[in-house]
Amino acid sequence: MRLVRFEQDGSVRWGVLEGDSVRPVRTFQHEGPLELEARAIPLEALRLRAPVDPPRNIFCMGLNYLAHVEESPARQVPKAPVWFTKATTSLVGPDEDVVVDRELTSQLDWEVELAVVLGRGGRRIPASRALEYVFGYTVLNDLSARDLQFARGGQWFYGKSLDGLCPAGPVLVTADEIPDPQDLELWLRVNGRVRQHGFTRDMIFSVAEAIEDLSRGITLLPGDVIATGTPAGMGFGQDPPVFLEHGDVVEAEVSRIGVLRNRIRFEG
Ligand code: MG
Repeated sequence: MRLVRFEQDGSVRWGVLEGDSVRPVRTFQHEGPLELEARAIPLEALRLRAPVDPPRNIFCMGLNYLAHVEESPARQVPKAPVWFTKATTSLVGPDEDVVVDRELTSQLDWEVELAVVLGRGGRRIPASRALEYVFGYTVLNDLSARDLQFARGGQWFYGKSLDGLCPAGPVLVTADEIPDPQDLELWLRVNGRVRQHGFTRDMIFSVAEAIEDLSRGITLLPGDVIATGTPAGMGFGQDPPVFLEHGDVVEAEVSRIGVLRNRIRFEG
């Protein structure tokens, strides 16, 4: 199944994408079957939202691809997953503009990532069973204000959590359609130019290992979102560094899921 979230009459609802139309879900649940309405709405008539509804901040892994570690200032290959979070208020949907305050950052960077949405919660989930807890997968762009990231003691939260800095979508693909999350390809394009291209098999810590590590100390909840890190090619790693500008169109893509497209709009 390919799920979308959309706005209707002031509320946000889930729907199942069937060709060019969407069948609304009566009551959405991460566990158990979904009951669909009989009617179908043309996709083009809907304004899509990010296809996730996390119960708290989005969990993110940093430095999870070797080639990205090498282009980052850290340079040290992590021995265990590096965790940070993004505020849920940073989420924006597919085709939504990313509106950024010009006074807060002039170093806005891109990071295409595979995002995992949990269906079941739990604590101490072994890697061997971790994929059974996954509801589905979507594309996430871990947009990052590098100036804020590096100017404030090296913490990653503020510079990655500004409103708008977490585009996700366009769809949430259920786990039955992606039996192996380590067999996907990722791309990121800016105004059509390929800036990142990678493979999830190159993750340092797999999706299953990430769930095992996180759940060893933190009880995971249905709907939790885990962003799994970005391959090489971030703007900050270029020589000279390249950052996003007003009007740029960013496309983050993961095979078997789709293309997440957003336009950058600087204001102020
Ligand atoms: Mg990232």
